[in-house]
Amino acid sequence: MTRQDSNQRLIIAATLGLLLCMVMACGKKNQSEPPKQTAEAEALQQSQSALPLATPTPRGEAPPEVVETLQGPDPAQEPFFNQSQQMTDSAGLNPVPLPVSNSESVPTAPPSVEPTVAVVSPAVVPSQVWVFGYHQFQTPKPNPYSITTDAFRSQLQFLRDTGWTVIPLQQLIGFLKNGESIPEKSAVITVDDGYASVFHHAYPLLKEFGYPWAFFCYTDFIGSGRAAITWEQLRMIDKDGCDVQSHTKSHPFLTRKGGKSPEAYDAWLKDQLLGSKEMIEQKLGKKVNALAYSYGAWNDYIRERAVLWGYEALFTVKGQMVSSTTAVSEIGRVIISKDNEHLFSRYLSQPLKAPESMQTPQMSSGQTEGTPYPQNSMPEAVNESAESVSEKSKE
Ligand SMILES: [Zn+2]
Repeated sequence: MTRQDSNQRLIIAATLGLLLCMVMACGKKNQSEPPKQTAEAEALQQSQSALPLATPTPRGEAPPEVVETLQGPDPAQEPFFNQSQQMTDSAGLNPVPLPVSNSESVPTAPPSVEPTVAVVSPAVVPSQVWVFGYHQFQTPKPNPYSITTDAFRSQLQFLRDTGWTVIPLQQLIGFLKNGESIPEKSAVITVDDGYASVFHHAYPLLKEFGYPWAFFCYTDFIGSGRAAITWEQLRMIDKDGCDVQSHTKSHPFLTRKGGKSPEAYDAWLKDQLLGSKEMIEQKLGKKVNALAYSYGAWNDYIRERAVLWGYEALFTVKGQMVSSTTAVSEIGRVIISKDNEHLFSRYLSQPLKAPESMQTPQMSSGQTEGTPYPQNSMPEAVNESAESVSEKSKE
């Protein structure tokens, strides 16, 4: 090899080395620059960083259907989810992977390639209450507002079998008035008027099931004859799962003024509402804070006076589900009668709202006259004055 050859080789090697260095430096520079993103992709990435991340989809596999972008509470904090659960797609048929919180699973590809978060927002089930109203039980004569003990037992059993919790009336009031917690599926059992059949037939069943209940009695009726419960019996059951409350004094249509002057009407209302309240308080030595309007008839003035005279909770016969947004001064009840007792289970199977056709006739605010009961099928005795009731008592 000549000296010239040797120099030429050195020059070639140096040139190649220089070229290699340039290529490497160029490559390094490219690596250090992030791929340009559109503003939209950046926004998507930012929004995703606040969301739980989906498991990256293996190549060649279709991404799971995107159901809904999570906007609600963080599933990690959400009691409705646990790691063993699988959510379903919008059709409810195909399982969708749960969000994964593991940071190693962060997808690195642009959002347009990777699936977005596939999460079904949990359906938050608010506490719901059905309040049922009864009148008489196992009467010898057919009566639209009397149900058999067999039917009543079936209803109580249905509540138990389907996970409904029967809560005391005062717990319902605490829920509506002070936001106290109650089970998601709660039911309240109330009975109106003050019939002896309640003592003989309903009370033993309610005691057997261990269910609390409320008894709205109109005080003129108590102890007035064989059909009526006595004060002594009331005193006994009030200490044994029953909460005796007011149903006025003589069970009138409170909305009917009957030609009275405003002053006379007010005095009469006071006797009906405050008079009955004080009578029960005195006889039973307890606090009375709830009123069920006789015939479910009321208006804003009556409600205002009832609150003034110490009632904390007012019950109508507007048959609809009660929720946390229900006013404590307007609590609807479903009155169970011969016409709808077979629908009892269907009321409870409607998680949000009973269809109109299943609801009992309604009284709305501002409606000042009328009866919630179907024509010609008012409960026996409650159509009549307390005096005639005692005369006609058969039970
Ligand atoms: Zn009544």
